[in-house]
Amino acid sequence: MNIRTEIIAVGSELLLGQIVNSNAQFLSQQLAELGLNVFYHTVVGDNPARLDQAIEIAKKRSNVIIFTGGLGPTKDDLTKETISKKLGKQLVFDQSALHSIEQYFSKTKRVMSENNKKQALVIDGSYILKNDYGMAPGMALQVDETIYMLLPGPPSEMRPMFQRYGKEYFHNILGLQDRITSRVLRYFGIGESQLETDIQDLIDYQTNPTIAPLAAEGEVTLRLTAKHKEEKEANMLLDEIEKKINERVGEFFYGYEQTTLFNELNNLLMEKGKTIAAAESLTGGMFSEKVTALEGAGLVFNGSIVAYTNDVKQSVLQIDKHILDTYGAVSEQCAKEMATQIRKLTASDIGISFTGVAGPSKQEDKPIGMVFIAIAMSEDNVKVFHLNLAGSRNGIRVKAVKYGCHYLVKLLKEIE
Ligand code: ATP
Ligand code: MG
Repeated sequence: MNIRTEIIAVGSELLLGQIVNSNAQFLSQQLAELGLNVFYHTVVGDNPARLDQAIEIAKKRSNVIIFTGGLGPTKDDLTKETISKKLGKQLVFDQSALHSIEQYFSKTKRVMSENNKKQALVIDGSYILKNDYGMAPGMALQVDETIYMLLPGPPSEMRPMFQRYGKEYFHNILGLQDRITSRVLRYFGIGESQLETDIQDLIDYQTNPTIAPLAAEGEVTLRLTAKHKEEKEANMLLDEIEKKINERVGEFFYGYEQTTLFNELNNLLMEKGKTIAAAESLTGGMFSEKVTALEGAGLVFNGSIVAYTNDVKQSVLQIDKHILDTYGAVSEQCAKEMATQIRKLTASDIGISFTGVAGPSKQEDKPIGMVFIAIAMSEDNVKVFHLNLAGSRNGIRVKAVKYGCHYLVKLLKEIE
C-alpha cells in the first residue's frame, strides 16, 4: 500500500498563535522513522463544520489521517464527535477508560462531573490506545481504505501514547515489519561541508542504513538509521557503515548519541586517573565552568586561575615579564608558559591555557580570532595549538573552549 499520511491538528489556540504545533513536528519525525510518508500538515480550529471540511479534503488525498487535540471533557472538544458523525459511526463508552476515569476521581477524592465521562467515549469498533498520562484514550480505526488515528492534544499524553501504542498499531496493520534502529555519531573540528564532501559517495549510495548530517555550534553529527526485522542485525549494519565512515573522518569523531566533548573529557580523565587545571585569559573561566558543571568534577579538576591582565599573569601565574614584553600575551610562548605554570602551581597532571584576541578590536596588533591553546602533559611535554577563529566575540570564546577540550580528548586518548 502506498502510504500518504496527513496530520490534522485541531485547536483554535494553534491558529491564534498561542501555541506551536509541536505535535505535528513530533509525529512527522516519528512517522519518518517508521518509513511512512507525510504529505500534509493541516491545522483547524475548534469548529465542527471546518473540521468536517478538513476531513473531507484529507480523505481525498491521504490514506492515513492522524488527528491531535480535542479529546478532552469540555464543550469545545469535538474531534471524536465530528469524526464519528462523518464516518457514520456511533460513540460508545469504553469500559476500561470509564473505569480508570472513575478511579482517578475517587483516588483524588474529587467529585466527577458528568462531562468527564465524555472522555471515555470512543468511536464504535475502534482500536483503543491507552492514555498512561491522562484520561482521554486515543483510538484508531480503518474505514474503507483510510486509517484514522485520534490522539490527545497535550504533548505529555500524546507522545508516550504514540510511541507505546500508536506505532505498534501501524506495525500491525500495515505490516511494517522492519524495526528502525538509529545511532548518532558526533564530530568536532571538521566543518559540516568538509565532512559531507569526505563521505558524499556513502551518503548518496547508502539506502540502508541511511546517513543524515546535522550541524550545530561548531559540531557536526551524523544520524545513521537502519531498518531490519532484528535489532541485532540492524546494529550490525550500523557498525559496518560507522566503520566505513570513520576510516575517513575518524580523527574528528568523539562520541555517540547525546554525549558532549566535556563528558568525554571527564570520562577520559577519570579513566586515565589524571587531574587537570586551567589558566584562562581569553576564555575568562568558561572552560572551568564547563568542566565543573559535570558530576564528579572534583575528582579530576583541581582549579583554575583567570589571568586576564598582564599584571595578573605576572603576579599570580608568575609568567616571566620577558615573555610578555618580547612576544606579548597572545603568543605561543605565553600560552606555553601559562599551561606550564598552572600545572605546577596546582600540582596537577595536566595544565591547559587559553589566550587570544576575542575582539571587537585588535590586541597587541594581532588579528581578531588569533588564539593559542597550550596543554602541558608533563614538565617537558607542552603542546601549543594555534587557531584562527571566526565569529563574534562570544563565538570565538566558545569555540576556543571547545577546541581546548577537543585537543585534550585527543591527547588523553593517546596515553596508554
Ligand atoms: P484536554 O483533555 O487537556 O482538553 P485535548 O485532547 O482536548 O486535551 P486540546 O484541548 O486540543 O486537547 O489541547 C490541550 C492542550 O494540549 C493545549 O492547550 C496545548 O497546550 C496542547 N496542544 C494541543 N494541540 C497541540 C499541538 N498541535 N501541538 C502542541 N501542543 C498542543
Ligand atoms: Mg481540550
